[in-house]
Amino acid sequence: MRYFFFLLILLTSCSSVELDKEYLKKNYSTKELEYFGEVGFYTGNSVKKWQKNITISLVGTPKQGDIALVDSIIKEVMPLVAPIRIERKDSDGNLKIKLVDRVDKGYANQHVKLGFFNEFQYSDINLPNNLKGTLRQATLRHEFLHALGLHHPIEKGTGTLIESNVEFVDFDMENVKNYRFSELDKRMIKMLYDKNIIKGLKKKDYLQTLGLKEKLHPTHGILSTRQ
Ligand SMILES: [Zn+2]
Repeated sequence: MRYFFFLLILLTSCSSVELDKEYLKKNYSTKELEYFGEVGFYTGNSVKKWQKNITISLVGTPKQGDIALVDSIIKEVMPLVAPIRIERKDSDGNLKIKLVDRVDKGYANQHVKLGFFNEFQYSDINLPNNLKGTLRQATLRHEFLHALGLHHPIEKGTGTLIESNVEFVDFDMENVKNYRFSELDKRMIKMLYDKNIIKGLKKKDYLQTLGLKEKLHPTHGILSTRQ
């Protein structure tokens, strides 16, 4: 019997995390709360993020401007993920930007490898050397948003970089309308790294607590949750 109660306590303590609905409604707009329901849940299911400081290193031969680009991303993102710090180092970063020659299908592949319990331990971004100018900037920024834990949204036309699937379109520069983080991109980073958004938070619990409906892809229905 004693073990039964122990098990009961254990199960209760493992149940879903209480979300502070009032806090979220006070600090984020309805539009932001809705958009987070689309982009805040890595692989569509739960919140995954960094819990430790991020060190970025470039692997390969950086093009002119690559280091400046990385430094400008760091400067922009660091205040949004505090108290986590982001630094660039010469080698052995836990977030490696690989400057690659080969392009498989599209512009860039990002591989975010997961540690235990919804925490990122390290991450790779592949940045093909044939990408230049604003396309290079947009691609790296888009991949960087994935590396932080954001996911593609279903809603279109928001002007965010997480929405722009630059890696899946052709090399036409016209497809890159926006190569900087939009305000909404930055708010999503801020929200993902808000202490009230706890790693492992389930999308369905988030939507239910805030009374939001899950957006489904208009043509693919339920399958759209797999992206
Ligand atoms: Zn993407």
